[in-house]
Amino acid sequence: MDEETIKKYMEAGKIAKKAVELSKKIVRPGTSMLEAAQKIESEIIENGGQIAFPTNISINSIAAHDTAFPNDARVFKDDDIIKIDIGVHIDGYIADTATTISFNNNRSDMLKASETALKNALEIACPGANIGEIGGVIEETITSFGYKPVSNLSGHYLGQYTIHTGTSIPNIKTSTNVTLKEGDAIAIEPFATDGAGAIRDGSRATIYRFIQNRPTRLQAARKLLAFAQKSYSTLPFAARWVKDPQGFMLETALGQLVQAGALHEYPVLKEIGGGTVTQAEHTVIVLDKPIVTTA
Ligand code: MN
Ligand code: MN
Repeated sequence: MDEETIKKYMEAGKIAKKAVELSKKIVRPGTSMLEAAQKIESEIIENGGQIAFPTNISINSIAAHDTAFPNDARVFKDDDIIKIDIGVHIDGYIADTATTISFNNNRSDMLKASETALKNALEIACPGANIGEIGGVIEETITSFGYKPVSNLSGHYLGQYTIHTGTSIPNIKTSTNVTLKEGDAIAIEPFATDGAGAIRDGSRATIYRFIQNRPTRLQAARKLLAFAQKSYSTLPFAARWVKDPQGFMLETALGQLVQAGALHEYPVLKEIGGGTVTQAEHTVIVLDKPIVTTA
C-alpha cells in the first residue's frame, strides 16, 4: 500500500473517531435516534469526510443494520444497549468503526466483553496471522466474560469504495488457510450476546444499495434508482437520505426496486434468542507495525 493511500485511510479513521466521540456525547436517554444519526453524519461532512454508509444505530437485540427511517420517532431509553456503527471514506478509502453505549453502567461487563475481544484481536492482527485464529481469540475472550460471540456476524476486508470484499474475518475459531498480508485493510468487529449467539434477518430494512439498472414501470422508482446509482453507486444509502420520492411513494419505489433486483436491501439483523448484543469495531491497516486507523 502506498503512502498516499495510507494517508487517506488514516484521515478517514481520524474523522470516524471524532464522530464516535460525538455520538458518546449526544446519545442520551430521551434523544431521538433520527437526530443522533443526522448529527453524526453532519459531523463527518463538516470534518471533510464522506459518509461510507448510513450510521447504523442498532438497539438491544438488534445487532446491526438498523438506522433511523424517515420521520422515525424512536428515542433512546434508560436501559437501552445502543450500537453506533460509523463509516467514513476519503476517496473511497474507508474507516469502519463501532462502539456500544449504555447508560448508568448498565451491562458494562457485556460492553467490556466485545471491547476486550477487539483489543485482543488487534494485538495479533499482523502479517501472517491466521484469520481463523483471530476468530478464536475473539471467541475465547467473549466466552471468558460469560457471553457468546455472534457466530454469523464477522469482520471483513475493505476495498476502495467497497465495504465487504474477499473473505470474512470470523468472530469464532475457524479452520482456514487465510492469513493477513502486509497492506490489507480490514475491519475487526466482535459482537457479544447473552442470547443464542447468532442473528437472523428481521422483517424491515432501512438501508439499501444500488446493484444494477432494471426497468420499472413506476416513474418514482426510476428517479430513485438513477439517484442511487449516481450518488451512492457501490456504497449503501439510507431511505431517509432520499428527497424524492418520499412517504408512501418512497416505500413503494424501494419495494419495487428490491423486487426487480435493482437494489439490495439490508434487513435489520436480530439476535435469534432475543439476547442483547454489544459490538466493538476498528479498522486496521496490516503492516509490520499495524495501524489502527480509528483508534
Ligand atoms: Mn461497522
Ligand atoms: Mn464492519
